[in-house]
Amino acid sequence: MAKPLHFVLVPLLAQGHMIPAMDLARLIAGRHGACVTVVLTPVTAARKRNRAVLEHARRAGLAVDVAELEFPGLALGLPEGCESHDTVRGGDFTLFNEAVRLLAGPFEAYLRTLPRRPDCIVADTCNPWTADVARRLGIPRFVFHCPSAFFLLAVLNMAKHGVHDRVAGDFEPFEIPDFPVRAVANRATSLGFFQWPGLEKDRRDTLEAEATADGFIVNTCAAFESAFVRGYAEALGRKVWAVGPLCLLDSDAETTAGRGSRSAVDAGRLVSWLDDKPLQSVLYVSFGSMARLFPPQVAELAAGLESSNRPFIWVAKEADDLDDGFDERVAGRGLVIRGWAPQMTILSHPSVGGFLSHCGWNSTLESLSHGVPLLTWPDFADQFLNETLVVDVLGAGVRVGVTVPITHKLLNPDAPATLVGRDEIKRALTELMDEGALIRARAKELATMAKKAMAEGGSSDRDLGEMLRHVGELAQRTEKGVPASSWRA
Ligand code: UDP
Repeated sequence: MAKPLHFVLVPLLAQGHMIPAMDLARLIAGRHGACVTVVLTPVTAARKRNRAVLEHARRAGLAVDVAELEFPGLALGLPEGCESHDTVRGGDFTLFNEAVRLLAGPFEAYLRTLPRRPDCIVADTCNPWTADVARRLGIPRFVFHCPSAFFLLAVLNMAKHGVHDRVAGDFEPFEIPDFPVRAVANRATSLGFFQWPGLEKDRRDTLEAEATADGFIVNTCAAFESAFVRGYAEALGRKVWAVGPLCLLDSDAETTAGRGSRSAVDAGRLVSWLDDKPLQSVLYVSFGSMARLFPPQVAELAAGLESSNRPFIWVAKEADDLDDGFDERVAGRGLVIRGWAPQMTILSHPSVGGFLSHCGWNSTLESLSHGVPLLTWPDFADQFLNETLVVDVLGAGVRVGVTVPITHKLLNPDAPATLVGRDEIKRALTELMDEGALIRARAKELATMAKKAMAEGGSSDRDLGEMLRHVGELAQRTEKGVPASSWRA
């Protein structure tokens, strides 16, 4: 009998990337008894949700384990325990990226200790340092993409056509070239990962590692993005497998409630609070694991939520900027979570009727997979393009009206700190929660399609099967001594 395939997953050390990577690990391991090792560091491996997924997989008899690599952050001057993006402060990002790149050495050493060469490395696109290691050891390498195919294709086509170099200013509008739909963007709101001063090398390395990858795995599904997945595969001339939404694997209470590292509220009490609210009445507000609003913007959002007179849950990393009486004034109908929230528990509750979201791709998938329409408030990176997908293409959201990325202020200190005012927030809220019947129906339809995609025989399930078959073929060729250079899909 053929040996089980062994995959080594290398996530980016950021919540929004580790969460889907852990899910991908158990998805792969659930098929044909494949073994999956996820490469983490001591601090990230100890995170509650990563441990919960591992434990859950073990109980289900799945061969998922974790390899811990020492993180060289301390030696570079990063604070103790700083081993993931959400713990990096201010100017430490360049240092953090440098520390991540230094993992290449220990990663190669780890692979060399294995009794058998793994059949495939699946590395987050933000870990281009895995490319040389894979090449040296002759192991096929897939790129794992955490953003939407819409974003990936848009960025690829904009780069191909040199669009960003041709526009006069950051906010000059242009049409995304060679795109399956008409979509208008500008440079400020359509930057790819690592398109930031000081990160030029990271960007070059990422593009190179993508150009030499043997295949691509994307956390999305054909029901949401078939034209963009197809367009991306055609533009690259490579295999692209859409195997998501991976969040739908989270049906187990333990991994759902502990989806983060350090839930700041008791999930049971939160569910009781939600149980008391009318169906689809609650607005859930969260800006993901990284972005923070500027203090004047926090005050506007607070005022908008307060004057809306409707129930809400607000995950406020910026809660220190709230005025003292806010919690009391909204008591009973507004819940402020100071810290990490059990987002999947909230989104899967029938009382939740809308998600005011920064449009991180995980949050977007989690919302749509549960039939919850979005109130879109993008901050930076892929989020503005995700907003376009959600509102204009999928018809499952309403824009709050943010037009300037939060990061713009970092490069332009004179730029305003308030991007959207209380009245606009209230207007958008009413449009979604009171008048958004069609949008809500569309979100519910998308949720049904997403579940079908992930079920046996659905499009994502078929893509997963094809991906595994492909790796199986590569493994057979390796056994027969076919050189790695002829492997590419
Ligand atoms: N998340 C959570 N609780 C929080 C904040 C975030 O569970 O309080 C999870 C969320 O469910 C999602 C991930 O963290 O899976 C955030 O990823 P996303 O792509 O939405 O945004 P990012 O944090 O990468 O900006």
